[in-house]
Amino acid sequence: MDKKYSAEPYRIKMVEPIKETSRQEREMLLKNAGYNPFSLKSEDVYIDLLTDSGTGAMSQEQWGAMMVGDEAYAGSRSFFKLESVVRNITGYQYFMPVHQGRGAEQVLLPQLVTKKGMYYISNIHFDTTRAHVELAGARALDCVIEACFDIDLDHPFKGNFDLDQLERIINSKGKENIAGIIMTITNNSAGGQPVSMENLRAVKQIANKYQIPTIIDGARYAENAFFIKQREKGYEDKTIIDIAREECSYADIFLMSAKKDGLVNMGGIIAIKDNEELFNKCKVTVIPYEGFPTYGGMNGRDMEALSVGLMEGLDERYLRHRTDQVRYLGDKLKAAGVPIQYPIGGHAVFVECKRFAPHIPSYQFPALSVTNAIYLEAGIRAVEIGSLLLGRDPDTHENKVSEMELMRLTIPRRVYTYKHMDVVADAVIHVYQHRHELKGYEFVYESPILRHFTSTFKPIGGLK
Ligand SMILES: *Cc1c(COP(=O)(O)O)cnc(C)c1O
Repeated sequence: MDKKYSAEPYRIKMVEPIKETSRQEREMLLKNAGYNPFSLKSEDVYIDLLTDSGTGAMSQEQWGAMMVGDEAYAGSRSFFKLESVVRNITGYQYFMPVHQGRGAEQVLLPQLVTKKGMYYISNIHFDTTRAHVELAGARALDCVIEACFDIDLDHPFKGNFDLDQLERIINSKGKENIAGIIMTITNNSAGGQPVSMENLRAVKQIANKYQIPTIIDGARYAENAFFIKQREKGYEDKTIIDIAREECSYADIFLMSAKKDGLVNMGGIIAIKDNEELFNKCKVTVIPYEGFPTYGGMNGRDMEALSVGLMEGLDERYLRHRTDQVRYLGDKLKAAGVPIQYPIGGHAVFVECKRFAPHIPSYQFPALSVTNAIYLEAGIRAVEIGSLLLGRDPDTHENKVSEMELMRLTIPRRVYTYKHMDVVADAVIHVYQHRHELKGYEFVYESPILRHFTSTFKPIGGLK
């Protein structure tokens, strides 16, 4: 490994053994799971790349901080500590904790939906965000740049808003019908692709012109800040926290799933710049859903761990290693000809399975086929993000066809080593070299909602 990829900026003092299984065992385990990796026990997985959400490792400082957690129902000392950290990073006045990102969405998003027929606009809504937009009685419109869908196109900020389209949408729907603009940084669904500062600034200018509130969906705001430092002119010498503050300056509200860049296993954040009235409304709503506004579903000890984790998540050496490790895996795959979303994003490598297995039609789920094949090959669990996830059209009941059939290899934070990435790369490359053997899948049981989680399948014509 050359200096292109930085070594771990930590040493390991507690380890969790992981089991290895034989191919024969995996064939049985996957069959028993109905060929749905979500139904595998994590114990039967060697390298688990299902998600980077809540799967990271905490530091000794975080574990130590948990000892001083104040578990008071109201006015916990741990709350005030976390509040000061969130204020320091965002520059915002108001803060409340929630149990995770979707809790923040559930509390906040309905507050801006003041009448029927309103819209939220995002570069791309994350799936729980979209669900909460719709539950709030609004509709979710995406307006990411076209470059995002061209996996080979080398563009530094594929998560950017299409600014012309944004203004066109506002004008065609009417500015009074736009509940808010949600800036998803990094843009998870597009492959963890960053949004540039220039783009955030321009979105804010448009929002100001039409008096529309802006919201950062900041699950990976620190990874986004690191990419800005690396790729955007004028930011080379800025500190990550200063870049993060500038990101926050272009929004009125900051929502965060702390399970990502917060470096904790559970937690979420609502922060509001200066709108006291909105904050008071959220305080009323948070109580029945999440808990009293000074704990919002979080333990005192977890707020302590998050206070430390947020700052560690902004550490440049940590972020360099984090993104290098993901890029290391992606570079290996790309060098072997495996089609991936490029440049490689912040938290995952996205493999394009339409091109990987062109002989499998979308309704036989090519990305599920590749995902299952790498489990069989090496006990690696990835996740399908394609037509299976997309589901059926509610009116026609036809399978919808996803623009991209992706397999996401999501890297947990501070958990695996470069050597693990080698194992993953070898397995994916092996499957790629034998791709003509891949089989499509059909349903044995199709779950009526969120079908990717619980449906069962069988390989068409058997596995070999
Ligand atoms: C994970 C995530 C969420 C939802 O957060 P949870 O903690 O999983 O509820 C929202 N938006 C983005 C961009 C995410 O990555």
